[in-house]
Amino acid sequence: MRKSLEGVPEHRKGSNTRYEIADAGLGAFGVFYLQSPSFLAYQRDMQRKRGKNNAQGLFGVEEIPCDGQIRNLLDPVAPEQLREPFWEIYRQLDASGRLDQYTGVAGTRLISLDGSQYFGSQVLHCPHCRVTVRDETTYYSHSVMMAVVGAPEQERVICLDPEFIRPQDGHEKQDCEQQAIKRWVQRNAGRFEPWSVTILTDDLHCHQPLCELLQEQQLHFVLTCKPGSHQALYEELRLLEQVEGAISTRVVRKWNGRYHEHWVYRWAEQLPLRGDAKTLMVSWCEVTISNESTGKQVYHSAWATDHALDAQRVVEVVAAGRSRWKIENEGFNVLKNQGYNFEHNFGHGQQYLSTVLLTLLMLAFLFHTALDFDCWLYQAVRRELAVRRTFFNDLRALTRYLYFANWQQLLTFMHKQLDLPPQSS
Ligand SMILES: [Zn+2]
Repeated sequence: MRKSLEGVPEHRKGSNTRYEIADAGLGAFGVFYLQSPSFLAYQRDMQRKRGKNNAQGLFGVEEIPCDGQIRNLLDPVAPEQLREPFWEIYRQLDASGRLDQYTGVAGTRLISLDGSQYFGSQVLHCPHCRVTVRDETTYYSHSVMMAVVGAPEQERVICLDPEFIRPQDGHEKQDCEQQAIKRWVQRNAGRFEPWSVTILTDDLHCHQPLCELLQEQQLHFVLTCKPGSHQALYEELRLLEQVEGAISTRVVRKWNGRYHEHWVYRWAEQLPLRGDAKTLMVSWCEVTISNESTGKQVYHSAWATDHALDAQRVVEVVAAGRSRWKIENEGFNVLKNQGYNFEHNFGHGQQYLSTVLLTLLMLAFLFHTALDFDCWLYQAVRRELAVRRTFFNDLRALTRYLYFANWQQLLTFMHKQLDLPPQSS
């Protein structure tokens, strides 16, 4: 992160601004990382009283800037300056085999792409805000396209670098999101082995231009496919329904802990994605889940995919499609509701501030995930305190009153005070 921040081109005249930008970025990161809006204020205090502080010890901040300086220093930093740390962590997790369990359809890695609004105001705004007017009131907002690696059986998700949605890309939400997906795919497809990834996204983006782009970039797809937006495909299906055996079916009975469920999988291949001569042909599948004793339907969804389907593969495609909401949920909800303090306002800025801050926050989330995979000390302390929901409370209190020269020292201190067992070999 320091390397990325120091690589930010000088945007002001004067000396040492590069280090100041790194300090501003790492300081804001520290606030998100410790989920502590007051972190920097406490560390300024500690510096005054003791001549050292934890922003320096734990985050490598040489001189703690004030909130106003952070705002000014980070506002001109374009979000692409902070992409590399995401991929560096991804590569490390991948190389260490931690991602081996993250496989879905046909052994591919599942990446979910979803747009979400992360800022909204009637007052604060910048030239990059999306502006909407409803009932004569003006609303300003920012949205991001999040790319997240997940898998049906995995609780943790891994954030990849985000693509920010630009309001100038189109008038409709759909156009803007589409352009953002396109940029993300074009930028990152080359990072993966050909055909090693399956992209998941919603019905809004289940159309020919995106499918063609994904194919061109050697990425598979599983996209939600609703009848209302895919009339040609569903007309063809209705015709096939008249032909015996044209649509394959598999029925599975499952115990969900309370009652038996009846899962009906149906699939067909070579269906037109749209109604003209140049249409792409795709595979289609659906699952309908019902309560066996009452017959009541409890779930239904359908997807379009480029994966060839058989009785086994269809189960994998459905599991991948169904996992998207969970992946999305884990990603967004954690960021919005799990204490990352995005609401802590360093201000909105006039250029990129809100995007830089969201990027730093997502990096904090990613660092926590990576540590939870890879650092036994972090795991041990986190597990113990997660039960008592005090992990971040303790971090906040400890870093306010005690100085730690580095993370190893802090985590070792916590581990010892909690009487946790040593690392098992
Ligand atoms: Zn704005």
